[in-house]
Amino acid sequence: MTTALPDTNALMWVTARPDLFFVQGSGAWLSDQRGKRYLDFVQGWAVNCLGHCPPQIQNALAQQAARLINPSPAFFNEPSARLAQKLTENSCFDRVFFANTGAEANEGAIKLARKWGQKFREGAYEIITLEHSFHGRTIATMSASGKPGWDRIFAPQVPGFPKARMNDLESVEALIGPQTAAVMLEPVQGEAGVIPANSAFLKALRELTTAEGILLIVDEVQTGMGRTGTLFAYEQAGIAPDIMTLGKGIGGGVPLSALLATEAVCCFEAGDQGGTYNGNPLMTAVGLAVLDTVLAPGFLPQVKANGEYLSRQLQYLAEEMGHEGERGSGLLRALVLADERGPALVEAARRLEPEGLLLNSPRPNLIRFMPALNVSREEIDQMLEMLRGLLR
Ligand SMILES: *Cc1c(COP(=O)(O)O)cnc(C)c1O
Repeated sequence: MTTALPDTNALMWVTARPDLFFVQGSGAWLSDQRGKRYLDFVQGWAVNCLGHCPPQIQNALAQQAARLINPSPAFFNEPSARLAQKLTENSCFDRVFFANTGAEANEGAIKLARKWGQKFREGAYEIITLEHSFHGRTIATMSASGKPGWDRIFAPQVPGFPKARMNDLESVEALIGPQTAAVMLEPVQGEAGVIPANSAFLKALRELTTAEGILLIVDEVQTGMGRTGTLFAYEQAGIAPDIMTLGKGIGGGVPLSALLATEAVCCFEAGDQGGTYNGNPLMTAVGLAVLDTVLAPGFLPQVKANGEYLSRQLQYLAEEMGHEGERGSGLLRALVLADERGPALVEAARRLEPEGLLLNSPRPNLIRFMPALNVSREEIDQMLEMLRGLLR
C-alpha cells in the first residue's frame, strides 16, 4: 500500500475531515492507509449495525449482483417484496415504500401526511415537529428539523412545520389546529444529543393525535432496526404510530431507507410517489440479510444487555471522573461531560497510538456512542479503557 495520499481537492468541500483515508474495515475495526487500526464506535453514523463488511452483507451483495441489480421500479422484484412483507409482519404497519436515504423516506412521510390531509382533513398540511429534531438535509426535511439556525441557511423554508418541545405535551397541544395533519418526532433525538422521548409522552401523544384525528409519525431512521434493544423504539412505549421511517441500520451500510404506513393512511395515487432506485433488488437483498440477522433468536436481547452494560459502565466512568452522567436507549448512548471538551476528546481519541478510537460529539458537552449492534463486551471494555485514559 502506497503511503502518498491521493489529492482531495476535487471533492466539494462540505465539512472538515481529518487527513487520512480509511481503506479497510472488519467488525468493530477500521484501518487507515498506513495500517493503523481504529476501534469504531461511530460505525458510519449508526449505520453499520452489523459492523464493517459483515459476511451476511458481502454474500447478499455478491449473490444478488450476480442475479439481478435493477429491473426498474416499474416492475416487481423478489427481494423488495420479501423485505416489505417481513417488515410489516414485524411491525404495526401494513405497507412499505423503499427509498435510498433517511431524508428521502421522511420526504415521503411528509408527502403522505399532506396527501392524507388533502383527502381526509380538508386540506390540512401542517406537521408539528420538535425543537432540536433532525429529519434530514433536503429542503423540506431541513424545514421539518428543529436544528437551531436551520431556518435561515437556505431561506425561505418550506412552510408548515411548527415546532413543539420534546416531552412537553402542552407545547404540542397548543399548536394543533384545523391545518394540522400530523405530529412527527424521533423516539430518541439522535443528532440533538441522544435525548429520549419518555414513554408517558409518547403514549400521551398517541392519545392526543388519535383524539384530534391527526397522524403520528415516528422517524426511526436512527432508532429503528434494533438500535434501542427492540426492533423499533416505538414498541417500548406500547404505541402504534400511523407512519414510520427507517434508514441507516436497515441497509447495514448501503443506501436503503423505508417509509411504512398503516393501510388507513396509504392514499398515494399513481404518480404521487416514486424514484429511480426505489426498492431496487440489490439494496433490498441487503436489507433482508440485515433484518434476518437482527430478528435471529438472541440478537435483540444481546443488544439490550450490552446497552445496559454500556450504560452502567458509562455511569461509573462519569462518577469516577466527575462528569454529569449518561443517557440513551439500547446501543445509542451519550456520556454527558461536565465541560465542553467533546470535540477535543474525539480528536484525541482518533490520534491515540498504536490504536485509535472513533467517537462522536454531537454537542460540545457530549460523547455519543453508536457501535455495531453485534459489538462484543471485550470491545466495549476496550473502548471504555481508552476513554478512561483520555478523560484523565
Ligand atoms: C440520519 C437521520 C436522518 C437522515 O438520514 P440520511 O440518510 O442522512 O438522509 C433522518 N432522521 C434521523 C432521525 C436521522 O438520524
